[in-house]
Amino acid sequence: MINDCLPRYYETHGDDPKFSILQTFVVLSHEVAWMEYIGSVLCDITDRSREGEKYVGRELYCECDFKEGVGWQIDPEHGVVSIGEPQKCRHRKSVVRRRHKELRKEFLRQFKRPIKNHIPEIILALIEKVKTGEFIEDGSGASFWGGYFYLQTVASITKQSMSDIWKIAEGMIAEKKISLEGAVVTPYRKSPRAKWVESFRFQIDKNGWTVIASIPAHRQMKQVWNFKIVRADGKKIRHNIPELTLVFDPDFGPDVEDVARAEKVLNDYLAITLWKML
Ligand SMILES: [Zn+2]
Repeated sequence: MINDCLPRYYETHGDDPKFSILQTFVVLSHEVAWMEYIGSVLCDITDRSREGEKYVGRELYCECDFKEGVGWQIDPEHGVVSIGEPQKCRHRKSVVRRRHKELRKEFLRQFKRPIKNHIPEIILALIEKVKTGEFIEDGSGASFWGGYFYLQTVASITKQSMSDIWKIAEGMIAEKKISLEGAVVTPYRKSPRAKWVESFRFQIDKNGWTVIASIPAHRQMKQVWNFKIVRADGKKIRHNIPELTLVFDPDFGPDVEDVARAEKVLNDYLAITLWKML
């Protein structure tokens, strides 16, 4: 149990932040818990001299995080180091699934079926839940990006496809109800102008027709590939290359896997349509 691990954890990590269990789930005698941590800012890297100020947060943890030899260990050279990947713990994943099922039931009671007609209301209801500190998803990614939760969580709770959830989220952005940072739902903020960054290009034929593939320049744009076909004189050619969503965050350029998928889509498209266009 987590509370059995905490004394040794504090002894080695110090007791700032301090953790307390708000909600506990025990799966096959492995404890997963929705916890609150309270700490004080030791060193303010943002230079706003907030040292000593309190910070509070809530997150999902499990025994894996606190147990010596599982989540951390003492390295003779480096002292206390994190090991393993607690977020991959299968008990923890099953608790998240169980929670999503519970939320789905709650929303089904609240809204008329089918649930897919109520996604915007559900997204707004989930935002309220996050604001009051309820357990919605695992990980701190969403709060890191200044938001509430990932669209993947909405897809999991409502059992809808990610592409449907994206479409609905775009509608909510147009209505100024939310914004997105990648796939993270955030409070509405006026988004910067869409801008594309070229990732790769290749010439299709000897006449100089070229395909240019670009990725979004910031996270408030739809996370998809942008394909352009231009003639040698730079004139754009109309095309209907299927839309392709980026699987990985392109913050530091596109992932190799995303590039491979883009190349496949382009090659398939060109193989079929090139003879019609030339
Ligand atoms: Zn675990």
